[in-house]
Amino acid sequence: MSAAGARAHYGGGVERSLETQVNQAVEAWMRWLPRWQPATHRGRVAVCRRCLGSPVLAAAGLGADVPHGVQHGMSTRIKTIIDHAVADYTARNLPMLQSELDEQAERNRARSYRPAEDLPPEFEGLPLDPDPDPEAPFLFTIAGLAAESAAAMPALPPLSAEAKAALRQEVALADEYANLVGREVCALLEHHREEIHAAVGRFVEPQIDAMLADLARALDTPFDPDGHGFAP
Ligand SMILES: [Zn+2]
Repeated sequence: MSAAGARAHYGGGVERSLETQVNQAVEAWMRWLPRWQPATHRGRVAVCRRCLGSPVLAAAGLGADVPHGVQHGMSTRIKTIIDHAVADYTARNLPMLQSELDEQAERNRARSYRPAEDLPPEFEGLPLDPDPDPEAPFLFTIAGLAAESAAAMPALPPLSAEAKAALRQEVALADEYANLVGREVCALLEHHREEIHAAVGRFVEPQIDAMLADLARALDTPFDPDGHGFAP
């Protein structure tokens, strides 16, 4: 199906509700933002694949100069909207992919340990464990426990070549639809750029300025405890 065909499938009603969903996601992010605080622990080494180069964040005006936690709270909320739209489209139009997903979901429910589910948006999609510290190795990791629990499940029955081809075709349609919805959502998000920018100016920038001022003081202190300078 073409992008235009996919568009015809969701029609005016769902388009309006996409707009409502984006408005609500931005509102939820705005309500959360005043509680955001700069991370005081050692920064992560790994980059976040959801946020790095995200067109959603570009549309929102949350560039690389904005702390990752602030970006992540937005990108995750918006991703949820896209995921739901694609899930709805799949349920209505892509029966093979849907039954594959149902089977997967069934297996997931049977799994005993699912630490990555039901997290608040600020934590969803992030690595489950802190970066490994070579001086203090972990006895176990949450990701490791989850992988063990997943490995204990029996393998899915193999698909025939025809079924595989049909499934691939449906996956491509789902991808196409996800891109379509993603572009739509980005266009909607652009209407919120100013309020998002204002919120960052109000709640994020002062905290970063304060942190930098603290850092500058901490660096000055060892050499200049009384403010006299250290010239002889
Ligand atoms: Zn992120």
